[in-house]
Amino acid sequence: MPKEDSWGDECFYCDECGNAFRTPLFCISKSVEQMHFYEAPRLPEAEVFESESIANFCSSACVGKARNRVLSESAITATYPGPVQSKAVHDVQSR
Ligand SMILES: [Zn+2]
Repeated sequence: MPKEDSWGDECFYCDECGNAFRTPLFCISKSVEQMHFYEAPRLPEAEVFESESIANFCSSACVGKARNRVLSESAITATYPGPVQSKAVHDVQSR
C-alpha cells in the first residue's frame, strides 16, 4: 500500500501538482501586520493581526509555478519595505 493511502487526513495536498505529502512543507501565507517604529536604539516591532496559510506545496518548484496565480487569485499585490518604512519614518519625525 502506498504511504499516501495510510495517511488518511494526516497529510497536505500540493496546490500545484495535487501530490499528497507531509514534509517538507512549502507554503504561501497571508498576514496583516502593522509596523511600529521607535526612536533608536529601540528596534521596530511588527504587530500581527492575522495570519493564514493560503496555499501548500510539496516543493519549491511547485511554489515557483503557482506563486503568481495564487497571489493573483487572492488579490495580493507584492509590496516592499522601502515605501512602508519611509512613510513610517516620516510619521515618527513629524510628531
Ligand atoms: Zn507539488
